Amino acid sequence: MPPATIPYVLAEVLRETPDTLTYRIRPEAGGEVLDYKPGQFVQLHLTPGSEAKLSRSYSIASSPTTRDFIDLTIKLQGTFPQHLKDLKPGHVFGLRGPLGHFFFDPATQPHIVLLGAGVGVTPLVGMLRYATALKLPNRITFLDANKTEEDTIYREELLGLHARSNPAAKIVLTYTRLAPEHPWKGERGRIDWDMIERHVPGPLDKHYFICGPDQMNKDLKDLLLVKGVPRERVKLENMGF
Ligand SMILES: Cc1cc2nc3c(=O)[nH]c(=O)nc-3n(C[C@H](O)[C@H](O)[C@H](O)COP(=O)(O)OP(=O)(O)OC[C@H]3O[C@@H](n4cnc5c(N)ncnc54)[C@H](O)[C@@H]3O)c2cc1C
Repeated sequence: MPPATIPYVLAEVLRETPDTLTYRIRPEAGGEVLDYKPGQFVQLHLTPGSEAKLSRSYSIASSPTTRDFIDLTIKLQGTFPQHLKDLKPGHVFGLRGPLGHFFFDPATQPHIVLLGAGVGVTPLVGMLRYATALKLPNRITFLDANKTEEDTIYREELLGLHARSNPAAKIVLTYTRLAPEHPWKGERGRIDWDMIERHVPGPLDKHYFICGPDQMNKDLKDLLLVKGVPRERVKLENMGF
């Protein structure tokens, strides 16, 4: 028997990048979405009754302060997303959650550093959206690595809304595949210690959240530990790619 799931209806599909869509879902019964912490994930079942092999985990990209929908931003790569790509509003999923320990706790984390890449930014953006919505004083340094500008999920929102209306947030985009002659004046290349030190004052006592390809997660975690960041201040979310 599959675990019990709650029916959520697909309300809207929003294009983020050429290969990434946001699925906006609402409780089929109406009312508020489930309670969750910023950064947690859910298990999405293709239908409320579908078995585990027709389900996958997705981080919640929206803020827990948004009570009438949940956004799941999904890269259309792999087996399960093939089932998603032609779905239309009105389709009913099953949802199980919230799940996971990868979440921002404003009461104990005065300055968080979010290190993300590609679709790995989804839980990190959930944290940022939460902080911006509540006007939290917690400082946030967000380093987001992508191949090019076109591949950067939520680019306009990151550089617009949060940069403008969250004075405690610093958003840094870095590109790994821009042509040398491209006029971009910001960071280039992968996230490394030099880049962290350029943007995070006193980097050793901050709380880190890392979510990108599993190898990047491991490399950054090892780097932070070698530099002297306490282990309990480094959290990873491995998405399995
Ligand atoms: C906690 C958690 C949170 C997650 N959150 C998200 C999320 O917010 N958005 C999201 O899109 N996925 C997320 N995932 C991944 C998601 O659960 C699926 O694994 C993903 O959609 C691929 O589907 P699949 O497992 O059927 O692919 P498979 O058929 O098992 O994979 C096919 C191939 O594609 C590669 N691949 C799969 N996904 C990607 C990718 N995104 N980038 C590069 N290569 C990839 C795999 O390495 C593999 O080689 C999350 C996973 C976990 C565990």
